[in-house]
Amino acid sequence: MPRSTWQRAALCAVLSAAVAIAAILLIPAKGRADEPYARSRDYDLQHVKTHLWIDFDHKSFRGEVTHSIAMLQENVSRVQFDSVDLKISALTLDGKDAKYTVTASDVVVPLNSPSKKGDTHEIFIRYEGSPKKGLYFVGPDKNYPNRPKEVWTQGEAEDTRYYIPIYDYPNDRTTSEMIMTVPSSWLTISNGQLVGTKDESDGTKTWTWKQDQTLSTYLITAVAGEFVEKTETWRGIPVRYVVPKGKEDTIDATFERTKGMLDAFSDKLDVKYPWAQYAQSSVDDFVEGGMENTSATTLTTRGLLNPALAPDEKRGSDDLDSHELAHQWFGDLVTCKDWSNIWLNEGFATYFEHFWAEQHYGADESDYEFWRDQTQWFRQARLYTHPIVERKSGDSIEFAGNEYTKGGWVLRMLRAKLGDDYFWAGLHHYLEVNRGQNVVTADLQKAIEQQTNINVDQFFHQWIWRAGAPKYEVSYAYDPAAKQIKLDVKQTQKVEGMVGLFDMPVDVEVTTASGHKTTTIDVSQAEQSFTIPADSAPLIVLFDKGDKILKSMEFKKEPTQYVYQLKNASDVPDRADAAVALGLAKDYPDGIAALANAASHDPFWGVRVQALHSLGKASGPAAEKAILTAVDSNPEPWVRSVAVEELGEFKDDASLGPKLTDLAANDKAYSVRAAALTALGEVRAPNAYDVLTAAVKGTSPDDTLRNAALEGLGELGDDRAVPMLLEWSAAGKDIDTRSAAIGAVAGLDLKNKTITQTLISYLKEPYTDIKFTTVFALGRRGDPDAIQPLEDLVKSGDLSATGTGSFVEAQIRALKAKASGEQPKQPAPPQN
Ligand SMILES: [Zn+2]
Repeated sequence: MPRSTWQRAALCAVLSAAVAIAAILLIPAKGRADEPYARSRDYDLQHVKTHLWIDFDHKSFRGEVTHSIAMLQENVSRVQFDSVDLKISALTLDGKDAKYTVTASDVVVPLNSPSKKGDTHEIFIRYEGSPKKGLYFVGPDKNYPNRPKEVWTQGEAEDTRYYIPIYDYPNDRTTSEMIMTVPSSWLTISNGQLVGTKDESDGTKTWTWKQDQTLSTYLITAVAGEFVEKTETWRGIPVRYVVPKGKEDTIDATFERTKGMLDAFSDKLDVKYPWAQYAQSSVDDFVEGGMENTSATTLTTRGLLNPALAPDEKRGSDDLDSHELAHQWFGDLVTCKDWSNIWLNEGFATYFEHFWAEQHYGADESDYEFWRDQTQWFRQARLYTHPIVERKSGDSIEFAGNEYTKGGWVLRMLRAKLGDDYFWAGLHHYLEVNRGQNVVTADLQKAIEQQTNINVDQFFHQWIWRAGAPKYEVSYAYDPAAKQIKLDVKQTQKVEGMVGLFDMPVDVEVTTASGHKTTTIDVSQAEQSFTIPADSAPLIVLFDKGDKILKSMEFKKEPTQYVYQLKNASDVPDRADAAVALGLAKDYPDGIAALANAASHDPFWGVRVQALHSLGKASGPAAEKAILTAVDSNPEPWVRSVAVEELGEFKDDASLGPKLTDLAANDKAYSVRAAALTALGEVRAPNAYDVLTAAVKGTSPDDTLRNAALEGLGELGDDRAVPMLLEWSAAGKDIDTRSAAIGAVAGLDLKNKTITQTLISYLKEPYTDIKFTTVFALGRRGDPDAIQPLEDLVKSGDLSATGTGSFVEAQIRALKAKASGEQPKQPAPPQN
């Protein structure tokens, strides 16, 4: 799914199944907190040398690992390594055959005598495996005989133990070597630097990679297969772009800004990118969106940009790529000590996505991203009562929105509190004093105070250790005699559990005929009033001008004031707020006119997009006309495609058929043509069936138009399309095309059991994307026959690598509710 679809997903309240899947699969990797407290350590793992011999045909490998350890405790009688499902055939302790026992979760090695602190040992283990997790085989099969062969790993959170018997918790760091013996035509990537390659007599080739600086073992990586790479140099180190054979033409379009990101982050932090290389390897069917393995990030091929579609994209896959790059400092150079402190990895990586946007695309861009994150975070109500740092075990992807989105927002607020110079100096100091170490939140707090002498205890208390965010209710009255406004502010959040009142300085801007004036007030109580001078009745009052605080706000204003705000506010979030508010005003022609103006003329594209959403919501002929005007007046495909999507809301207007047909055929951007095809189905235009079935048969880059036409057929709801949709949903067709067809057919001919059974059969396929598309499609279809197969899927554990079992369970609940006659609820997946 192209990146733009994912970005649009973030803007839409209602997610289509296909978009929901894309949103899940582009989430950067997330730690799972099986052990909420870090372990106590008996030994320090100092060096780990792994050799893997890959047997692709049997989806298995042989391995040898040598661990160099130093004892940290007295009188320890045995050492233990995490190891799951690995068959161990030999083990030596300090060069001699040794006894060992294997349990379901460990290898235990008795020491010859009780330890003295500082004793060193070398433990060698020979083993083999065909793992369910940790190391994955992707390649040709009977349905897709031409796929490149790929082997890759995913360690986070606790899956390295599925392919190496090892100490597998983040609170230790080690240097490492990865040696891979693979077919001679393959390429490999691992941590650190390539030390050398050697051709073996049996036609295989051995690659040796070495990482001289320490890492936590979940950040070990091995990627091997039929890949091609392009290499550049940045400040003396190699920068590698690795893609499956056949995808070479995506490299430049996708990764051309990588060196700019390396410059921006190194310079702003004043900490040079710390590793011997930076490799980005894109692999098929990756179980995460991206994974920040030390010096060698792994990415999903879904983020690769077809050069023919690149001009349709505002930021390409910058969000994902900048996120993983930022982890090379925050996550890899300093690493969370336990999973409860994962926000020190993820909050920072999220913040740096927006920082990159600010650097490269301007402050409006990052303000807009934070504004959207804020809306999303509040929409996920389950997050509100939980603090960012929380001790919990089990699969915690449910609260990822706190660690990623809220974590990023906390850093935005911290920057506002400290000011730019102190903020960046504080981060520099944090990285330098903790370089190569494991950290907890207190380390960040301490580093900031050491560097700046600003006390941040209260800030961390309310934003990190406690939950929620302020929900403000604001109103004001102007007193002409006193020439002042009385501003009433309430905090309406329920104060209970981990949620309290917030104490924040808030910027209030009052604009009168004579100009703007900003006053900072301290809001800390449940109800407070403030008086602010104003020489005449305000044209506009902005509370938290520029959206510097993570908050929700109900500001009781006259609609005329929102009209003024939309046109005149200097900051993007304030104009976007006004666009949203005007979309909710009923029967207010001046509001539609203001939105119409903004949709075509606002200087920032995101405000135009918000105005278009509000016009779509407002409905009526004036709104429709404004959207049609915006289709023609917006040069950017990422705005025009939103306008076309919104036309899909006007189902009664028969004249839209010809317009959308024209756009589908002739717009210069594929994304706009695709949006027009889907909208044709939505408005149920009389010619839609013919246009869409014809478009399914055509060709376009990445089959963009075919996939949109299939979605359009789903929207159209014409059961004549069922045979065509089933044909394109079948194994052997392109995966994205199948996803579109599966999502579309799910909503058709609801009594047709063949459709349900066909969809159920797709759950057994090995392709992650198809599984997820099908899960959501079955949930949407509502046929109770799917309950048992979905329950079997959860039990099989096949989905646990992506940590999204909870979303399958949500579909099961929805189906059960529907079967028992309740209104089904379709929970939205996390969108960050
Ligand atoms: Zn991340």
